[in-house]
Amino acid sequence: MNDQPAIGSRVSRSGSVLLYGGHVLTMAPAPGSGDPTPVVLRQAEVLLDGGRIAAIGRALTVMPGTRLIDIQGQLVLPGLVQGHIHLGQTFFRGLAEGRVLLDWLRQRIWPLEAAHDDESAYWCTLLGAAECLLGGTTSIQDIGIGPGARGYLEALVDSGLRAVAGQCLMDTGDGLPSGLCCDTDTVLSETEQLGDEFDGANSGRLRYAINPRFILSGSDDLWHGVKELASRRDWPVHTHALEQKAETELVRSLKQGRDEIEYFADYGILDTDLRVAHGVWLEERHYQRLSSESFSVVHCPSSNLKLGSGVADVVALRKAGIPVGIGCDATACSNRLDGFEEMRLAALLQMERHGPTSFSGRDALTLATSEGAEAIGLHDQIGSLELGKRADVVVLASGQPELWAAPQADLHDVVAFSASRSQVSHVFVDGEHLVEDGRLTHLDLEMVCREAHRVCASLLNRSGVAL
Ligand SMILES: [Zn+2]
Repeated sequence: MNDQPAIGSRVSRSGSVLLYGGHVLTMAPAPGSGDPTPVVLRQAEVLLDGGRIAAIGRALTVMPGTRLIDIQGQLVLPGLVQGHIHLGQTFFRGLAEGRVLLDWLRQRIWPLEAAHDDESAYWCTLLGAAECLLGGTTSIQDIGIGPGARGYLEALVDSGLRAVAGQCLMDTGDGLPSGLCCDTDTVLSETEQLGDEFDGANSGRLRYAINPRFILSGSDDLWHGVKELASRRDWPVHTHALEQKAETELVRSLKQGRDEIEYFADYGILDTDLRVAHGVWLEERHYQRLSSESFSVVHCPSSNLKLGSGVADVVALRKAGIPVGIGCDATACSNRLDGFEEMRLAALLQMERHGPTSFSGRDALTLATSEGAEAIGLHDQIGSLELGKRADVVVLASGQPELWAAPQADLHDVVAFSASRSQVSHVFVDGEHLVEDGRLTHLDLEMVCREAHRVCASLLNRSGVAL
């Protein structure tokens, strides 16, 4: 936003970097080996150059001027991918506690979101992005907001995060405030204009998506328009579905007995590149059809537990060949934008449901990296540390007791079950050094928090919500 205080230069932090001495979890199998096990290299080096992974190995040759960073004994992994998130709800942490989904939306979240303007959306999004980066999340798929969508998209660009994002689309629904209830043709036209402007922004780090919120807040005409726009522009569709039982029952009662998947099929939405948050109530009868489509599920374990939604059957979805990502959803429901917490929780829940042999730490880390990247359509660029991929990298500091493990321990298990955001020491996106020694390099966090307090107070006043 032109009239915002400057947030700092990112220009000088993108040179060639050699990370040396760390243990590298590539999350990729050895090329040509036929063994799907991801390669781990101990005491190795990773060279970042030109925004990409330029080399991985030992005793690498580097050009003069390459910055050398000693990370002896630290863990190096791909940046975490959170496939479902609402940075536009970051201000609403703790303001909607103790509610089931539809009350949570109608009583608090929708009226609060309706009060956003570009300025509040900007600082709200930047605050959430700061939390993501400091916690090792380098890529998000964000379902967006309605009012303030431009400010939100500008903040994503300024944050340095990699993001699949777009305006959130709503045009009907019981309890939907007038500020969110858009004219169908107008909102479809607006989102296309925003997509024209922001798709590919920040050197391709921002990709646009069409984000109808969920079936209960979209008219049949809106879903028809989403299908038409997705087909014409080849943009993905990101939405919520099958999150709570009461929600799916309401969908059936309003949509002539069809569930979400049957409705999506009738409106051609299954023919788009469709990414669904939650999928808690997907059933076996859905799997075969969905596995042959461009379809993924983003699992949000903390949010699902907090809102009493249930637990998605991640083991069954993956067995059916459906890619699964992972996400924290929002501070308004799961309170933390913490990829490490979601990873650990996802594993524990599947182990409780299917037994301890059903799901490993490596499975959990896969959801948060390589498979998570596949779930948001970016697996050719990110999700593993391989030559030529974008240099989205996280380093976890050593020397803390919770990461101590014997050399025989599988480092995937160490990361999935023992690591936390507090150990994140360095974060790179496109080779840009955005977190150094646990501190943001390009954002003045004190200023972001100060501006967040200022604009949030005005937003709460505008909302009329009695808190
Ligand atoms: Zn959500």
